[in-house]
Amino acid sequence: MNYAPTKLNVELNLFCSRRGCPYHRSLDNKITKDGTYTTKNDSVVRQMFYCGKGEHRFSETGYSDLFGKHGSFKEYEQMCKLSCYSLSVDAIADVLLKDSRKH
Ligand SMILES: [Zn+2]
Repeated sequence: MNYAPTKLNVELNLFCSRRGCPYHRSLDNKITKDGTYTTKNDSVVRQMFYCGKGEHRFSETGYSDLFGKHGSFKEYEQMCKLSCYSLSVDAIADVLLKDSRKH
């Protein structure tokens, strides 16, 4: 068996993480990378995405259902990114050892 990664099996689907978008978490959507930006707070480069069917841009750190329940900004960032890969809030909370039901 050859386990060499190919483009097919290393590419993860991205999802629109904006709540209220009709194509939020839709499989039938095209998310494309749309440039990067940095904030004044730190020099970390953040990815912008474009939601094809919803026709809006969003930041990889723009949305997280766990906002307010995160610890550090770093964790918030991780939550947002995981959410872009369509992990559920509970799954993300589990990975980061958070309790999504608790404030
Ligand atoms: Zn969208």
